[in-house]
Amino acid sequence: RKLGIALVGLGTYSTVQLGPALQHTERCRLAGIVTGTPAKAQEWMAKYNIPKENVYNYQTFDRIADNPNIDIVYVVLPNSMHAEYVIRAAKAGKHVICEKPMGLNVGECEQMVQACKKAGVKLSVGYRLYFEPHHLEVRRLAQSQELGTVKLMETALGFSMANPNSWRLNKQMGGGGAIMDLGVYAIQGARRTIGEDPIAVTAQGFVRDKTIFKDIYESMFFQMEFPGGALSNSTTTYTSYVDRLHATTGHEWFGLQPSFNATGAKGDSSKGKIDLATPPFQQIRQMDAFAATIINNTDPVASAAEGIKDLHIIDAIVRSADTGRRIEIDWKRV
Ligand code: NAD
Repeated sequence: RKLGIALVGLGTYSTVQLGPALQHTERCRLAGIVTGTPAKAQEWMAKYNIPKENVYNYQTFDRIADNPNIDIVYVVLPNSMHAEYVIRAAKAGKHVICEKPMGLNVGECEQMVQACKKAGVKLSVGYRLYFEPHHLEVRRLAQSQELGTVKLMETALGFSMANPNSWRLNKQMGGGGAIMDLGVYAIQGARRTIGEDPIAVTAQGFVRDKTIFKDIYESMFFQMEFPGGALSNSTTTYTSYVDRLHATTGHEWFGLQPSFNATGAKGDSSKGKIDLATPPFQQIRQMDAFAATIINNTDPVASAAEGIKDLHIIDAIVRSADTGRRIEIDWKRV
């Protein structure tokens, strides 16, 4: 049988991407929902044929422990709520996918890992690009050194934040603005392609409109130094749309634009286009891959360890921007 997934939080990402993607998955299916809005519950039940006994709100959520039709809880809530719902899902004995960024900080994420370990359930982060063909291809190009050794990378993700009341602009709920929300893709794009973790970062943060960006950076530029000698320069912002990944060797180059958006990547290189067939939603492979780890008892690729690494790097980036200093990351000690 297909494993049953319950989506927690029926906002934009669940509505536009995850719900529709779950109509194409082979190893899992949309079995339940958790929402605080009764009208949304009615709408989803009708649209996706979800029985009443698989519908919860935030007060009744823990009763999901008694529901054998739900195998996986997928937390798609504002960032500040990830830890609480991952831990509650683990206590209910359910495997968990947690959206990115995994939590607000490393300490919170470690508690999530402990809770899942104690409950004997698997935990994955909603990193869909670990399964996206264009991203796998740029990683292959870099790591096979087919076009030479990557020396420099540029990665960028930003959009124009139109809603000044969004939780994404609230430091307590979003965790720190664009770097938490979008910068995480720019960090991962570089480290997944190069196949190494940065040993030092230098960063600059900017705020032009203090009425909107009260205690978070509106735009950040950051540089990462990799142990093999490669450097990356990255951008993240809430002021304008930017979405690209570029890697260059001595004479050759390859890259993606758009790159990180869920609506699809397009690739090019000094040797020709990178144009690969893709499923209708990137999350199909992501969710099926997680279901396979449960069925086969293997470890998730989009692991909690990767989520935690990204939060260590974000922490170093913000400290660098705050202090104006280059921050080293000692992976043996973190
Ligand atoms: P959203 O604001 O559209 O949805 C959030 C949902 O949480 C809403 O349904 C809202 O009602 C619910 N909610 C419950 N309690 C709330 C509270 N106290 N305050 C505010 N909302 C509350 O956000 P979204 O864009 O769907 O993002 C949700 C999560 O998914 C975030 O962690 C985000 O980073 C992640 N996300 C991931 C991707 C990806 O490609 N992997 C894309 C978009 C969003």
